[in-house]
Amino acid sequence: MIYLDQAATTKVCDEAKEAMEPFLRDSYGNPSSLYELGERAKEAVEESRRIIAESIHCSPEHIFFTSGGTESDNWVLEHAFLKGRQILTSTVEHHAILNKCQQIQNRGGEVCFLPTDSEGKIRLNLLEENIVPRKSLVSVMFANNEVGTIEPVEEIGNIVKKNHCEFHTDAVQAFCHVPIDVEKMGIDYLSASGHKIHGPKGVGFLYVRNYQDFLPMIYGGEQERGMRAGTENVPGIVGMGAAVKVQMHNLSEKIRREERLRNYLANRILREIPGCRVNGSVHRRLPGNLNVSIEGIEGAAMVTLMSDDEICISAGSACASGQAGPSHVLKALGQSDEQAYRAIRLTLDDTNIKEEIDRTVECLKQNVNRFRRGAR
Ligand code: PLP
Repeated sequence: MIYLDQAATTKVCDEAKEAMEPFLRDSYGNPSSLYELGERAKEAVEESRRIIAESIHCSPEHIFFTSGGTESDNWVLEHAFLKGRQILTSTVEHHAILNKCQQIQNRGGEVCFLPTDSEGKIRLNLLEENIVPRKSLVSVMFANNEVGTIEPVEEIGNIVKKNHCEFHTDAVQAFCHVPIDVEKMGIDYLSASGHKIHGPKGVGFLYVRNYQDFLPMIYGGEQERGMRAGTENVPGIVGMGAAVKVQMHNLSEKIRREERLRNYLANRILREIPGCRVNGSVHRRLPGNLNVSIEGIEGAAMVTLMSDDEICISAGSACASGQAGPSHVLKALGQSDEQAYRAIRLTLDDTNIKEEIDRTVECLKQNVNRFRRGAR
């Protein structure tokens, strides 16, 4: 099987699996317990917090563990709503943001959705026009999950700071894939997830700059300093920490390798399959992402055909993930329904190799020809 859907989820790496195992069996203690078994679990959770904090350049007390990106996103937005903030976000966000914003709007909250340019980049002039000094929470993703476009995070951070507002970024796709520095980038809140970086599913975290003023997510015990109650997911947290350590080791070298492989894939597709067009930004995109529209095909059907060849890719359109209709991201980029339905997304990382790319391109070519023959 060839797996080119690394943006959907990833395989747990050996290091994470090995780090987790003791905490599923021998070291199963509750971190709140005062005896050795509990302390061992607590120490492992804190070690994970330290590793993660270092990876985004903050100190550990700013990291709060959650069940993943969706919970982290919901937490920040709920806090903003309860504090009476205006929420400024973009039309290309993940549904974890968009649907929560919709729910906030239904409860009378103030939400403004900013359009993007045709590459999916937020328009900074619109942000400046719509931000309300001392009132807005700006929530703009670090990098888009469909088209891979990297937002101008540092510029957004500067505008937010100038207006004495707060900046949240959904970095689920960017964390451990590109360098992140919450200080330099002016980020006040950051969401991330374990399963996109070869860690386990069901674990993530939220970085919070001013946690003294932050509202709890779940009420109950004193876990996560009373901010997110419930017995910690110790194996998950430990696994995520181990995965972060692996991912952050030689990150720039990994990025170069991924980019090289992705560019090779893109060049072959563009050269060998007529009628292709890359969606998203050519220059400011995640190193492992390729989103391409191919004339005469239907993305969701192509996913099925490729799956018959044991190649996992994804459609650019949301219907492939069980929802009707074209991708809201491609629509936000100004594409027609018809164009949006032609998109496929291939996402790789440095666990993929050139031979897999070559076989994928060959299968893609055959399947495109099948589509086009069928259409005649
Ligand atoms: N935000 C983005 C940009 C994502 O890509 C995803 C997952 O695909 C999420 C949020 C949700 O993360 P999780 O699956 O950890 O809840």
